[in-house]
Amino acid sequence: MYNFDVERPTSIADAVQAMSKEEAQPISGGQTLIPTLKARLAAPSVLVSLTGIEEMKGVCMSDDGRLCIGGGTTHSAVAAEAAAHYPGLASVAARIGDPAVRNRGTIGGSLANNDPSACYPAAALGSGATIVTNSREIAADDYFLGMFTTALEEGEIVTEVKFPIPQASHYEKFIQPASRFPLVAVFVAKFSDGVRVAVTGASNDGVFRWTEAEEALSANFSADAVAGLKAEGDMISDLHGTAEYRAHLVGVMTKRAVAAIA
Ligand SMILES: Cc1cc2nc3c(=O)[nH]c(=O)nc-3n(C[C@H](O)[C@H](O)[C@H](O)COP(=O)(O)OP(=O)(O)OC[C@H]3O[C@@H](n4cnc5c(N)ncnc54)[C@H](O)[C@@H]3O)c2cc1C
Repeated sequence: MYNFDVERPTSIADAVQAMSKEEAQPISGGQTLIPTLKARLAAPSVLVSLTGIEEMKGVCMSDDGRLCIGGGTTHSAVAAEAAAHYPGLASVAARIGDPAVRNRGTIGGSLANNDPSACYPAAALGSGATIVTNSREIAADDYFLGMFTTALEEGEIVTEVKFPIPQASHYEKFIQPASRFPLVAVFVAKFSDGVRVAVTGASNDGVFRWTEAEEALSANFSADAVAGLKAEGDMISDLHGTAEYRAHLVGVMTKRAVAAIA
């Protein structure tokens, strides 16, 4: 690692101020950033730790019926605290990585990182969530811009995520056993006015909505409705699976998710 300074703000306002320093970068659970620093793939001069900001932690219901999760809330806290309100989302958090990762990693860090195989991006996009930062609110449909790329601007901090709660949802994750990340996973959310389907792990463009499946499932919510569909796009091909295999898995995971809900 290179040398760097560490700032430990205790409020969002102080974190924003610390982030204005040259080459400052936020750190939350460090589950992604620390290995990145160790590999010398990043060299910030100031790390702004968000872990001491209490106003960024916890789960609550908003007046408009959305589930609000602080950006600094760990995966294990989401798994425990969201279960009564949004079990489909709690189940996503409960299956991220292993206990050590879940006890340190945060929803804000995961959404800021936008790993093309991460779980929360699928849950956020599939739920039609809103990503709240220190300066604005961004609809999930406008937030995920590609692999490791988001609408966040320099110095912007994810402070909260607001989730509309569907009638039913399910996250079907085909685990890559070495990393615990999904090889491919699909989040299906059934709302009163339609169905949303978000796919992670499959595309070189990162998480995406499978709109063809959404239309079919909104008309007929059954696994048979997606049986003849094939996900198109620039699929990832690597030593774990070819592009064709991943496209196939998208269909299989979607059918399983729908069957689990039905
Ligand atoms: C062994 C292992 C298995 C894993 N398995 C999975 C899995 O199955 N599914 C999955 O989804 N993930 C998995 N992960 C990743 C894990 O979920 C991380 O917690 C997550 O990717 C990053 O969260 P973090 O809080 O640790 O962020 P950090 O590592 O602290 O930061 C990640 C990035 O986000 C930025 N950042 C952090 N917080 C914020 C914020 N609030 N606002 C703006 N920018 C911010 C940082 O500057 C950095 O660029 C795994 C990780 C490991 C090590």
